[in-house]
Amino acid sequence: MVVAQRISSAYIIIDAERCKGCCLCISVCPKEIIGLASHINEKGYLPAVVLEEKAHDCTGCTACAMMCPDTAISVYRHNRVPIELVA
Ligand code: SF4
Ligand code: SF4
Repeated sequence: MVVAQRISSAYIIIDAERCKGCCLCISVCPKEIIGLASHINEKGYLPAVVLEEKAHDCTGCTACAMMCPDTAISVYRHNRVPIELVA
């Protein structure tokens, strides 16, 4: 029996109020999906944001979260989902 699987896209959430705009996450993302916001946060920094047009390219590699000195990034990856059974 073969179980086909689908892997849904991963995504990140950036806590804009923890972010100090250091751009380290931007420098390491292989998909270039992170940029800086056009507005400042409560600390007075331009926080990192996910670029909407590229968000679907996230692989969930976690490089951005590991690099962030302020633990402002959470990475989410969906589990593999069986979609077909072939006898
Ligand atoms: S998890 Fe990887 S691909 Fe996704 S935003 Fe972070 S560095 Fe980029
Ligand atoms: S590495 Fe962290 S603190 Fe620096 S810009 Fe990215 S989210 Fe903000």
